[in-house]
Amino acid sequence: MKLILLGPPGAGKGTQAKRLQERYGIVQISTGDMLRAEVVAGSTIGREAKAVMEAGQLVSDDILIRMLEARVARPDCAKGFILDGFPRTVPQAEALDGMLARRGVELDAVVELKVDDAALVERIAGRYTCAGCGAGYHDMFQMPRMAGVCDTCGGGRFTRRADDNRETVGARLAAYHAQTAPILPHYAAKGRLHAVDGMAEIDDVTVELTGLLDGLGRDAL
Ligand code: ADP
Ligand code: ADP
Ligand code: ZN
Repeated sequence: MKLILLGPPGAGKGTQAKRLQERYGIVQISTGDMLRAEVVAGSTIGREAKAVMEAGQLVSDDILIRMLEARVARPDCAKGFILDGFPRTVPQAEALDGMLARRGVELDAVVELKVDDAALVERIAGRYTCAGCGAGYHDMFQMPRMAGVCDTCGGGRFTRRADDNRETVGARLAAYHAQTAPILPHYAAKGRLHAVDGMAEIDDVTVELTGLLDGLGRDAL
């Protein structure tokens, strides 16, 4: 299964992508995680991306397109993938079309997680991640079962992203509305676009998403 999860920052793309990856045996490709790894590594891309990301703006299409092309060519993508955070601009969506066509691959679905801007600010401000395994948490909406201990790996160190603050959220939401939302009609015109209510509770969003995706499988039979 080849999917795109679309939605504004904080919509729940990463949270749901991790669940889908387990259920369907496909890989999550998060361009945000890939860029953060480049920043930590201090690579050329990382040095270029750091300030842009901290300002809540989008890193250049050139860098992202090259990064994504190399990633989908890796063997672990053969069974399928979930794109989380890409494409984010019309040129990225067009480049992805070309990339997939050259590889003879078709997208099964593009799913938009719909969440109100006001809820996104709360989600982003409360987001944190296990430093050991990358599991995602939230101060109010997704707390570990035991305080300070990761449910998944038992680790006790957590991190918050440099760009997850109330000051940067406005710029990120503006970038979403101005640069990313215009790709929705691109996929609607291809008949691939579906919407899921991302305002619901995390488990309920998963139920709606997997219901939708399981249904697509049946249509194809
Ligand atoms: P995205 O990848 O779209 O930026 P995340 O999956 O990281 O979003 O979710 C942002 C934050 O909101 C995380 O802290 C996550 O635990 C929390 N979250 C995700 N989905 C929901 C939901 N449906 N309701 C409440 N909080 C959520
Ligand atoms: P979120 O889902 O919370 O917006 P991500 O982890 O997807 O966060 O992205 C974090 C930052 O990385 C973005 O604000 C942007 O600066 C950069 N980024 C990630 N993916 C892309 C992309 N496809 N194009 C341009 N910039 C990107
Ligand atoms: Zn962990």
